[in-house]
Amino acid sequence: MPEQKTWGIIGGGMLGMTLALRLSQQGNKVTIYESADKVGGLASSWQMDGVVWDKFYHVILMSDLNTRKILKEIGLENELRWVETKTGFYSEGKLYSMSNIIDFFKFPPINLIDKFRLGLTIFAASKIKNWEKLENILVADWLTKWSGKRVFEKIWLPLLKAKLGDNYKNTSAAFIWTTIQRMYAARKSGLKKEMFGYVTGGYDKINNEFANFLVKQGVNIQYNSKVTSVQKIADGKMEVTGNGASQTYDYVISTLSSKASVAIANQLTYAEKQKHESVKYLGVICASILLKKPISKFYVTNITDAWPPFTGVIEMTALINKKEVNNKNLVYLPKYVNSDDTLFDKDDAAIRKLFLEAIFKMYPGISENDLLFWGVSKARVVFALPTINYSKNIPGITTSIGNYYIVNSAQIINGTLNVNETIQVAETKLKEILTNHG
Ligand SMILES: Cc1cc2nc3c(=O)[nH]c(=O)nc-3n(C[C@H](O)[C@H](O)[C@H](O)COP(=O)(O)OP(=O)(O)OC[C@H]3O[C@@H](n4cnc5c(N)ncnc54)[C@H](O)[C@@H]3O)c2cc1C
Repeated sequence: MPEQKTWGIIGGGMLGMTLALRLSQQGNKVTIYESADKVGGLASSWQMDGVVWDKFYHVILMSDLNTRKILKEIGLENELRWVETKTGFYSEGKLYSMSNIIDFFKFPPINLIDKFRLGLTIFAASKIKNWEKLENILVADWLTKWSGKRVFEKIWLPLLKAKLGDNYKNTSAAFIWTTIQRMYAARKSGLKKEMFGYVTGGYDKINNEFANFLVKQGVNIQYNSKVTSVQKIADGKMEVTGNGASQTYDYVISTLSSKASVAIANQLTYAEKQKHESVKYLGVICASILLKKPISKFYVTNITDAWPPFTGVIEMTALINKKEVNNKNLVYLPKYVNSDDTLFDKDDAAIRKLFLEAIFKMYPGISENDLLFWGVSKARVVFALPTINYSKNIPGITTSIGNYYIVNSAQIINGTLNVNETIQVAETKLKEILTNHG
C-alpha cells in the first residue's frame, strides 16, 4: 500500500485508538471521529463524588500482552500495579471464599463428588486447545456432560443466567472455554493465586495518555463528532459526515457495533446489512457505589442465588489502592441484559432502589448510612454473543463499498470481551486490510 494515505476511523475506543496508532506509525494521516467528549468508550471514566474512575470495572491480566505492549508504548508500563486478589461466591444466602483449593473443598453447597466433577470440568476446559470443536456444542450440554446435572443446575446454570440471561440456551461451549481460559490466565498456577493488575489513575489515565500520544504522532481526534454517514463518492474516495460537516478519505474503518456500522452506510447491500444486523449483542447496566467501609475481601463475588438483581459484585477497592479513590470503597454491581431489556426503561431511582435493597440484604453490615455515592452506567451494545458456529457466521471486515471496512469487537472469536482481545482484533484485522485489500 502506498504511503501517506488518509484514513478516517470511526470510534475512539481502544479499538479505534489502536488502529490510529498503528496507521500513524506507518506514515498515514489519520482522523478519529468520536461522538463523546473524550476517548475510551466502554473503558472511559466518570466522576463519582470527586472520585474519577472507570464507568465499568476493568482489570488487566498478566497474560494481557497486547494491552501491556500498548501501555509500554504510551509510557505507562511503570504505572502498572499487580495485586493478589480473592474471589467470593454468594450461594444459598451466604458468602464463601473461593480463592484457593482449600476454599474449594470447603465450599458446602455441593458434595465431594460434585466438587470433583466441577474441578474436572474446569481443568478439562483449561486443557482444550481445539476451541473450534466447542463452537457447535451448546454450553449447557457441554457443562452437563462434564459436571453432571446437579452441578450444572446448582452452579453453572445460575452463573450462565447471570452473564447471559436466557441467551445461554443458544450459546456455544466456546463461551465457557474462553471464560475459563481467561480465569486460568489470571492464576499463576492452577487454582493457587489470582493476580490482577491496574494502572494508577485507572483507564482515565490510560485514555488520556493514549490520546496525547496519538496527537503527538499527528493523529487528528475530533471529539463530539457523531458520524451519521459514510459513502463512496464519484472519485472513489470515501466521504464521512459528522456534525453536518463532510470530509473525504482514502480509507474508512468503523469500529462501531455491527448494527451501528451498517446504519451509517446506506450504500451497503441489503444482504450485507442483514448479516451485520444478525449479530446479537448483550448490554450491561452497571451501578457504581462508594461506601464508607469495605463489604468483603473479594475482588469478584459470583452469585449463584437467583434473587439478586445484579450479576455479580465487583469490589474494586479489594484490588486498587484506596488512595486512588480518596480512601473510599468502590463497588460495582453489574447486570448483563439483552439490548432491549426493560431494565433500560427504568429510571435511575428505580434501579437504585432495586440494587441497594439487594446489596444491603446480601451484606447486612452495610446500610444507607454507609453510602457516599450512587450512580449507574448503561450500555445497550457491549458484547456479541458467541452463538453456535459463531466464527463461521460472523460478517467479514470488507464491504461492497470500496474502502469501507468494519472492524469491531464482534470479530473476537475465541476470547471473552476485553481490551486485550480488542487490541488483538485491531492489530490482526489491520494487517489483513493492508496486505490484502490496500
Ligand atoms: C462491564 C464491563 C466490564 C469490563 N471489564 C473489562 C476488564 O476487566 N478488562 C478488560 O480488558 N476489558 C473489560 N471490558 C471490555 C472493554 O471495555 C472493551 O473490550 C473495550 O473497551 C472495547 O473497545 P472498543 O473500541 O471496541 O468499543 P467502544 O469502547 O464501545 O468504542 C466505541 C467508540 O465509538 C464511539 N461512537 C459510537 N457511535 C459513534 C458514532 N456514530 N460516531 C463516532 N463515534 C461513535 C463511542 O462513543 C465509543 O467511544 C469490560 C466492559 C464492560 C462493559
